[in-house]
Amino acid sequence: MQIILFGPPGVGKGTQAKLISKNFKIKHISTGDILREEIVQGSEMGLKAKAVMDGGSLVSDEIMIGIIKKVIQSDRCKNGFILDGFPRTVVQAEALTKLFAELNTKLSAVIYMDVGDKEIIQRLGSRYSCSKCGKIFSRRDKIDGDDNCTECGEKLIQRDDDKPETVLKRLRVYKESTAPVKTYYEKLGKLYLIDGSKNIKEVNKNILAFLKE
Ligand code: AMP
Repeated sequence: MQIILFGPPGVGKGTQAKLISKNFKIKHISTGDILREEIVQGSEMGLKAKAVMDGGSLVSDEIMIGIIKKVIQSDRCKNGFILDGFPRTVVQAEALTKLFAELNTKLSAVIYMDVGDKEIIQRLGSRYSCSKCGKIFSRRDKIDGDDNCTECGEKLIQRDDDKPETVLKRLRVYKESTAPVKTYYEKLGKLYLIDGSKNIKEVNKNILAFLKE
């Protein structure tokens, strides 16, 4: 099973990708997580990516395609994978199509999750994650003022690129550079639409029903 989970920032791709990855025992590939890991390790790529990410822009196609080529061909992806955050441009989508052809493999489906701009701004503005295990929380649910993770007790932090000014920039970048990817997969007849405004459980139920079909 080779799946792409696609949609605007804050639609819940990361949360759903983790659930699908667990359900089908396939590798979850989050390009955002890979870049954040490079930043933590202080690599040259991480240092370059941080400035771009903090500004709400996209890391270059060349770097991203290089990362994906390496990961997809690794042993961890043998049983399949779910891509979360890639492709984000038509150039990346075309490179992925080429890579699939070279590897003699096929894309199973592209799941497009959508939600309105107002909801995205609210969700990203209230998104916090655990500094240790990465579990994601919404301030809208955690109104008790507890700043620690319910799983491991570590402190919750807000991503630099979830700050209000950067969220608006990310939405603009999404519309200009990433939204055309939807048309690309629509033309290939691979796109399946999911309403991302529903709660986590319901969205997951809809995705699983489609994938099990
Ligand atoms: P995410 O965690 O998916 O929201 O990604 C966080 C940030 O990482 C994005 O806003 C981009 O700056 C960068 N990024 C992640 N994936 C890609 C990609 N496929 N192409 C370009 N930039 C990316």
